[in-house]
This record gives sequence, structure tokens and C-alpha cells, in this order.
Amino acid sequence: MKWQEAARAIRWNIQPFIGSHYRRSTSTESFDNVNPATEVTLCRIPVGNAADVDEAVRVARRSFDSGSWSQLPPVRRAEILVKLADLIVEKKAELALLDCLEMGKPIQAALFDAGHFAPMRLRSWAGFADKLLGVSAPLSLGTLSFNTYEPRGVVGAITPWNFPSVNAVFKFGPALAAGNSVVLKPSELSPSSALKLAELALEAGVPEGVLNVVPGLGPTVGAALARHPDVNLLSFTGSTATGRKLMEHAGQSNGKPLLLECGGKSPQIVFDDVDNLDAVADATVKSVLWNQGQVCSARTRLIAHENIKDALLDNVVSRARKYVPGDPLDEKTTFGPLASPAQRDRVKAYIEQGLKCGAEAVLKGAIRETGGCYVSPTIFDRVDNTMSIVREEIFGPVLCVQSFKTENEAIALANGTDYGLEATVWTRDMGRGKRLAHSVKAGEVYIRTSGEEGSDSGCVLSREPQKASGFGAESGLRGLESYSTLKFVSFVGA
Ligand code: NAD
Repeated sequence: MKWQEAARAIRWNIQPFIGSHYRRSTSTESFDNVNPATEVTLCRIPVGNAADVDEAVRVARRSFDSGSWSQLPPVRRAEILVKLADLIVEKKAELALLDCLEMGKPIQAALFDAGHFAPMRLRSWAGFADKLLGVSAPLSLGTLSFNTYEPRGVVGAITPWNFPSVNAVFKFGPALAAGNSVVLKPSELSPSSALKLAELALEAGVPEGVLNVVPGLGPTVGAALARHPDVNLLSFTGSTATGRKLMEHAGQSNGKPLLLECGGKSPQIVFDDVDNLDAVADATVKSVLWNQGQVCSARTRLIAHENIKDALLDNVVSRARKYVPGDPLDEKTTFGPLASPAQRDRVKAYIEQGLKCGAEAVLKGAIRETGGCYVSPTIFDRVDNTMSIVREEIFGPVLCVQSFKTENEAIALANGTDYGLEATVWTRDMGRGKRLAHSVKAGEVYIRTSGEEGSDSGCVLSREPQKASGFGAESGLRGLESYSTLKFVSFVGA
């Protein structure tokens, strides 16, 4: 595929997709949609406003009340969502190119997201649509009492920019499978693939008004959605700081419930009984540098036993050196630019802070200041849990390395941040693995004995983020439950 040519042929159209078509935003202001690989403006995006959100919520409510989707037999909803997954695969090149241009994701990685990651999860949620089973209770003779799940109504969804197509599908997938109507606000940095997905949903047979997308800024469109009195549930993925603002908005409006998937600072704990340091180093580097380090679950804290720390660090550094940023439109590129000039400045500021407070940069990444937001990997040794580079989410290609002597010390280091999203523990001792799975405060813990990758259990099983990383389950059947309300019904009498 000639990606440069395809990029030039794009006719940008970033406007709210409401009901069955694009409408002009009623806001008069707009901002630049910038390609982070070149820092050239692709098009302008309307800032959006409360009137755009009102219209989308009104249309979503009408579709919900009509029953066109909410009362469709769940197996029929599943069929349509599977068809949508097929269409996403068919249009993966188009979706991938939009994500590549808007947030700098290397085109091969973007093709994986649209061709595999997003549709695979959508199929999984579709498969659960008819499995929201209630239970009945034998309360007394002559009564029939049972639980039943009902869709909540209009779901507001707000997503970040790091996996634009995937983030969108991860929100509307379980929400639609459970029978809700959705108003989605994608990140201002990468709204186009979500808009394209709304078009595809309509083509797949999702009735009009069931999936609406309103692009724009967080404080305009996002806040209006969070404060809207007719939104029944707000589902958010993004930073912890924004998640906390949304809790206020929800509380100050109609008290809508929230699902929050927020930031992380995940540990990778390595004990000295591992027999394959190559596998550990490989997994560490892939985890930290995937998507240029802009992944909520990135294992950005390597916590290694003192007996193996130096050897592991050397191995990690030599692998990380090979990550040289390149043009995301080149199919050979595996490591692209950061998503925006602001993201580059943020990462740069953290690296400077790390150096200032005495951390040792055993690998110091180059930072391009203009003509592309390129930042190569940085690895800090000699850090401690008082430093902001260890405690705070940087969301870039930066790894901090610490060492420990005892199991308890490893646990204390791992739990030494406000976050609790994910963790990995490397040990061959299953008893220890079990103890750490319990002691490490994270929603998802992997105990690894070898370099073999596990299966993507996140499809079927679920988890809740802990601490400042958020709350609420969104994967698997539990995800559909989160997007439903549980009712108790009792028939009494003869
Ligand atoms: P962000 O919080 O800045 O923005 C996320 C979304 O919220 C965007 O759509 C933005 O426009 C909107 N927003 C911003 N301010 C708002 C406001 N006042 N009211 C309403 N909406 C508002 O986050 P980001 O920079 O886009 O994404 C990076 C963050 O996302 C990181 O913290 C990362 O860890 C997190 N993330 C978490 C997960 C997860 O599953 N836990 C997955 C991906 C990303």
C-alpha cells in the first residue's frame, strides 16, 4: 500500500456524527489537528459545545426509547456487532491510516489495532450479549422472584488518544452489547477513526441514533457530556486527573455512575530464580516501549533482585538502544513519534526532573524539538520512590530501575505509588508467585515463569483497576454487567 499517497487523498471531515449522518458543529471556534510526525496541520477540528452534546444525547435517548436496539433480541444484537467487527477488519487500512496520521502510531501497529485488537474484543463482547442471565430465588411457595439485567439507557463515553480505534471499540463494544445507546467523545488529538467507526456501525445494521460521536475538546464537549442530566452512565478512559474532575461533574449533575480506567505506573518484579534473563529483558523492553511508551499498563518500573539487577539492566539497555524512532508511514517503522508536541514537552520535563534529582540516565534518549515529536528511550538507574519519575505516570519511553533484597522489600517498592493498574512478577517459585499475586495492589497481575506470552484472557475474564487507576470492570461478561442495571422482580400470589 502506498501510504503517503493514501494520506494525501484523505478528505478530512471532523464534525459530530449524530443519528445517521454528519452535522455541522454549532461551535464557531476550531483548533489544529496536527500530525505529530511532521508537526504539520492536517485539518481544523471544531472545539464543540454543549449544544452539540445536547443534540447527540437527545437523538441517543430517542433511539433508546424506541427499542430499535435496546429491545432487540440479544442474539440479533450479537449478529450485528459481529458484522461490525468484520467491517472493521475490511476497513482496517482506512482506520489505521487515520490513527497513524493523527497520533503517530506506526502504520503496522495501527493495522494490528484495527485488524485484530479492536475486532477481536468486539466479537468477544458480542458473544456475551445473550449471556446476561439473571438468577431466580426460591423465596416461598407461590412467589417467583428473580434478577434481570436491563440496559442503563444513554451511555456517555470519553476516550484518550493512545489507541484511538481500540479505545472507541472498548467503550461502545460492551455498552452496545448490553443494549444501550452511546454518545462517544474521542480525544481531540485523534477523533477521526471513532467517527469512521460510527459510519461502519450504521452500515453493519446498528440502528440510527444508537452510536453517536461528538468530537471536540475535553472542557467543552467532554464536560458537557459528563454534566448532562440525561446521561445514565459515564464511562471514561484517560488520566487520573481528568477522571477525578468527571466524578465532580457526575456528582454535581444527576449523580450518574461512572466507570473509570485511568493512569498507571506498573511494576515488573524480577526474582533471581529466573533462568532466562533474555526473555525478561525482551518482555520488559517491549512492555515499556510499545506505542512509544504511551500505554496505561506499560511496566515502567523494573524492580529486580540485586543478584541479577546489573546483568538484566545491561541486557535491557542494549535492546532499548535498538529502538530508533522512524516515520510512522513507513511499514518497517516499529517506534514512531510521541502523540503531540505537548506530550513531547511533558516527557522532556520528566527526564530533566529525573536528572536534576540525581537519577542516573544509563540510556539518555535524544529529543527532537521541531519537525516531529520524536523522543528515543531513556532508562534511569539509581532512583527511589520519592522521585516524581518513579511515582508519576510519564506516558512516554522512560523506564526506572530499582533493586531489592527481600520479597517484602519488592512488594513495598511495587506498591509505592498511587496507582494500581497492572503488574508482572517473574519467578519460578509458585508459592511466592501466589503470595505476590495477592500482595501487589493491582487490578491485573501476571506471574511469569518463562518468555512465553500468555493468551489474551482479558477478552473473557475481567478486572477492576485499583487505587488511583480507577474502578469498574469493562471486559468480558462483567463488562456487560457494568453497562446494565440489575433489577429484582417478584411475582407474588396464586
Ligand atoms: P486525558 O485525561 O487528558 O483525556 C482523556 C479524555 O478526556 C479526552 O477525550 C479529553 O478530551 C477528555 N477530557 C479532558 N479534560 C476533560 C474535562 N475537563 N472534562 C471532560 N473530559 C475531559 O488523557 P489523555 O492524555 O488523552 O490519555 C492519556 C491517559 O489515559 C493516561 O493517563 C493513560 O494512562 C490513560 N489511559 C488509561 C487506560 C486504561 O485502560 N486504564 C487506557 C488508555 C489510556
